Amino acid sequence: MKFPSIFETANSQMTASGFRPAIAALMFFALAGFAFATEPVSIPTPNVAMSLSPQDREAQAERFVAVRLQLWQQRLNLTKWDIRANLVRIGALKPKTVGGIRWDAGVMKATIDVLSTYDYDLPYQAMLDDMENTVVHELVHLHLSSLPRSEASRSAEEHAVNEITNTLLKLAKP
Ligand SMILES: [Zn+2]
Repeated sequence: MKFPSIFETANSQMTASGFRPAIAALMFFALAGFAFATEPVSIPTPNVAMSLSPQDREAQAERFVAVRLQLWQQRLNLTKWDIRANLVRIGALKPKTVGGIRWDAGVMKATIDVLSTYDYDLPYQAMLDDMENTVVHELVHLHLSSLPRSEASRSAEEHAVNEITNTLLKLAKP
């Protein structure tokens, strides 16, 4: 499976020179009729992020997560769902996790929790990459949510979700 080349281009540019080309790509999607937020998105490069206040870092990460959520929702064909992502403090998550998802299949609404910047102990770019990993991971869980589940199937599902998530993120890179 390959993603449309526009995604690969956006990602290779992103890796090479920070986030600005990715923003340009997102603007292209907005113009092309995709349902991206109309407010301008500006995500600082890691160097700029160093000088941000903790509150600004949190706000920037929140915007980054929202943008990546919309992108992966499109890629994973989950656009019928109304999905929100929140940055939450570590106490709101299950122990030893950096994210989680709740959903209501009846109304097709889901909420993804992503660990807050305040509780991350990673450099800025690695933290954003990890947040994106969480978003994709929880979306893959959402795809599997229609399958029967049991306590016994949990760890098998977790393993499958990790494998699929890592593969998707690898394919999205150059
Ligand atoms: Zn999981």
